[in-house]
Amino acid sequence: MQKAVDQWIQTIGNGYFSELTNMALLTEETGELARVIARVYGDQVAKPGDLTDPRKNLSEEIADVLWVLCCLANQTGISLQEAFDATLRKKIERDATRFTK
Ligand SMILES: [Mg+2]
Repeated sequence: MQKAVDQWIQTIGNGYFSELTNMALLTEETGELARVIARVYGDQVAKPGDLTDPRKNLSEEIADVLWVLCCLANQTGISLQEAFDATLRKKIERDATRFTK
């Protein structure tokens, strides 16, 4: 995923936005995801004609968040695979019995 994003940024996107801009964009995209969640799973009601395909909207907004996360990881030298693996290991070890009843 990170390579695909980098390829697009380098060839079509004309380079990365600054880290601060991408942080703002991550917040924006997270808000868009929250907007869909609030209307599909929460108590908010979509306006007429809005969210005609909630599943597609949800998928797109999750992908938008992932895209910006890939940008931030790429420009700060973070491997999302390594970071995820480390987090998974931590959760497996630290939380081994945490949620057992
Ligand atoms: Mg979006």
